[in-house]
Amino acid sequence: VSINKKNNQNLMPQPSAEPAIFIPVDRSPNIQEARLKLPILAEEQIIMEAIKHNPVVVVCGETGSGKTTQVPQFLYEAGYASGNGIIGITEPRRVAAISMSQRVATEMNLSHRIVSYQIRYEGNATEDTQIKFMTDGVLLKEVQRDFLLTKYKVVIIDEAHERSVYTDILIGLLSRIVPLREKKGQPMKLIIMSATLRVEDFTANKRLFPTPPPVVQVDARQFPVIVHFNKRTPLDDYAGETFRKVSKIHRMLPPGGILVFLTGQAEVHSMCRRLRRAFPYRPNSSVKEAVAAADDSVEAIKKFKKAKHKSNLPRINLDNYSAMPVDEGDEDREAGIDDEDGVGSDLDLDLGDDDSEEVTKFDPSIPLYVLPLYSLLAAEKQAKVFRSPPNGTRLCVVATNVAETSLTIPNIKYVVECGKVKKRFYDKVTGVSSFKITWISQASANQRAGRAGRTEPGHCYRLYSSAVFADFEKFSAAEITRRPVDDLVLQMKDLNIEKVINFPFPTSPSPESLIAAEELLISLGALEEPPKHGRFKELERAKLTCPITSLGRAMASFPVAPRYAKMLALSKQHDCMPYAIIIVSAMTVRELFEQLDRPAVSDEETEKLKRKKARISQMKWIWAGQGPSLKLGDVMVMLGAVGANEYAGCTTRFCTENGLRHKAMIEIRRLRGQLTNVVNAVFPEASLFVDPKMKPPTETQVMYLRQIVMAGLGDHIARKIQSEELLDGKWRNAYKTPLIDEPVFIHPNSVLFKHLPEFVVYQEIVESSKMYMKGLTSIESEWIPLLLPQYSHFGKPLDTPPPRYCPETGRVKCHRTSTFFRIGWQLPAVEV
Ligand code: ADP
Ligand code: MG
Repeated sequence: VSINKKNNQNLMPQPSAEPAIFIPVDRSPNIQEARLKLPILAEEQIIMEAIKHNPVVVVCGETGSGKTTQVPQFLYEAGYASGNGIIGITEPRRVAAISMSQRVATEMNLSHRIVSYQIRYEGNATEDTQIKFMTDGVLLKEVQRDFLLTKYKVVIIDEAHERSVYTDILIGLLSRIVPLREKKGQPMKLIIMSATLRVEDFTANKRLFPTPPPVVQVDARQFPVIVHFNKRTPLDDYAGETFRKVSKIHRMLPPGGILVFLTGQAEVHSMCRRLRRAFPYRPNSSVKEAVAAADDSVEAIKKFKKAKHKSNLPRINLDNYSAMPVDEGDEDREAGIDDEDGVGSDLDLDLGDDDSEEVTKFDPSIPLYVLPLYSLLAAEKQAKVFRSPPNGTRLCVVATNVAETSLTIPNIKYVVECGKVKKRFYDKVTGVSSFKITWISQASANQRAGRAGRTEPGHCYRLYSSAVFADFEKFSAAEITRRPVDDLVLQMKDLNIEKVINFPFPTSPSPESLIAAEELLISLGALEEPPKHGRFKELERAKLTCPITSLGRAMASFPVAPRYAKMLALSKQHDCMPYAIIIVSAMTVRELFEQLDRPAVSDEETEKLKRKKARISQMKWIWAGQGPSLKLGDVMVMLGAVGANEYAGCTTRFCTENGLRHKAMIEIRRLRGQLTNVVNAVFPEASLFVDPKMKPPTETQVMYLRQIVMAGLGDHIARKIQSEELLDGKWRNAYKTPLIDEPVFIHPNSVLFKHLPEFVVYQEIVESSKMYMKGLTSIESEWIPLLLPQYSHFGKPLDTPPPRYCPETGRVKCHRTSTFFRIGWQLPAVEV
């Protein structure tokens, strides 16, 4: 069902019996003027009528047509937030939730108390909030607390075409919540907003919506974009090709902003540096210009002085100078890293000095105003792309995939795109993840091209050939089909959705990944074990419908992945909880430490990096004075880093000196506070508090902590290959794990790298030149049959020593040996 003016006269506004509510909004004249230019304004009545007459409506339209900023305002004005209920909007990206709430608040001239946002660790929502932007994960958590989402009168699922996992699950859940609310007499509206892409996944899926929801199509004013393909596709050096193309555009083509797509944060920064070096923009380079540019005379004098001062400076090293004081520097390392931006270590293309030749060849007359844009860039820096560039400069935004649909940058005339995107890939069975740069889909390529035609006709330069384009997939796969789903399955079981396989997903995850998730949860004790005997078919069916256990419910109450949730649930014992909270917080925040393996630019920097590296491996000693043993491995280093940093007051200075990422430390601090609250809610008797001057764990506690970590990471166990087992050279210093046939190794950055304990558990395996285990803890073999009985096969009691009667318990004890899992490691005898 598609509605637009031409073919759906019957859904055009009709006189209505109810009095129309209209809540006035006091917008400034220039905002009002800008709004009127948005294509969606022309469709307001049609959209609002469709919403009035249907519980579920799909709104689709080109990026930039005004969906995200305007639809919440339409609803507000129509009174949807004025009674008992608010308007909620979900975004798959944090950056969009924050910046869109700010934009809408500005447009409506309302404070952030009314138009607010909420993301995982922060937000500014209040009791007065009427429009709330949030990440999809935040709304999913709210469903757990209040299944009917009674607080909301309208829920808008934005960017549905991105098909993020939480968005997909929310749509599935809301497809059931909406009729339930109807039945209860408190109807709720669901609006799904999407770019014009594969809307049929939502509308033509009878399991999801038995009555197909109407689709309101917003026809955006899209100007023609001429697409230029490269004749050849550069094999590796797409960054170099990007640089050459941008340089050429800037030197030869008429004014107009340039938008560059690259794959990750590190690449974005390298490109920004390279472009700034080639086309320097110096706000104060000429005294005359500075005076002329200043409107206000005081400003003019200030600038004059500054400019004069600057021009007197000897220009020793222009290459190291940048006109963008705020953006330069440590951002690569300080800014957070999330899935999309990836971990750049082996992907940070060092662009080196090979461009010096080209710099001299070009003689740019107009400076290039270069800005980076990626998902975790600080909000204020990200907002710069919306402002006009300084007079007499050309805007050039170097972005990751965020610029594809989440954010619309004004006045872009040229798009340069490499056809690549960085994605996290998971092995379905082992869960091993790696970041890979892959080709985008045709749909993405067309979205990217569309960014050039928002305000006038534009050009898109694709740095690959049309033959390569023809081989692209049509659409990119929904995220849910590409990642492990254990956390989702646990959350759904906690919502009493036992048959996850029957859930109305817009796109279902594969049966293998559902089975893998269920098996992991069973092994963690979160789900009841299925019956072991019976007919094969029934057993298979039972496997996917296991009910949740009480441990599972406790685990589901922690906002972390099931493995970590189990650690928290177990750590009540021996006063380990405060430590477990830190360990889990640190393990769920990516990249605690600065990247110290990068090539240094000077000898001095080499020294600095070396010192920081040493400090990191000593972190536990800094905190403890004399630290507990190394057996807690990397986990102890994390614990030590957080402990020491909190002790020192979590200052930027402490972090910089010791090679810690300040941003990660702040995130850990927030998560620690949040988890402490959750724990207090789940176990009121715990009455924990966050102690900044916490003491290191005792040697005994360290032992329990190792066991707790092991219980959560049980299937992530690895055993050192003994010299007599060495198959060939490639197994030297290698470890064997139950799930992976290939040798795995301890990551060189691990504190256990040189110690090579016999048994370890690892947090994750990342694949680069080899398979490397990261986040290691050493464990004792005799714990395995006791703590991981689910993986152990017990043998017969040993003949010696003989069974022994214990008068205290009245039981006979004997020793049993066991073997581990499918790979048959012999484990030592334990008393039972
Ligand atoms: P859609 O959701 O359909 O992609 P948006 O509502 O995000 O469209 O954007 C509508 C317009 O608002 C775009 O032209 C965009 O450039 C502009 N816009 C969005 N955020 C800001 C901002 N912070 N400052 C200025 N303009 C903005
Ligand atoms: Mg949008």
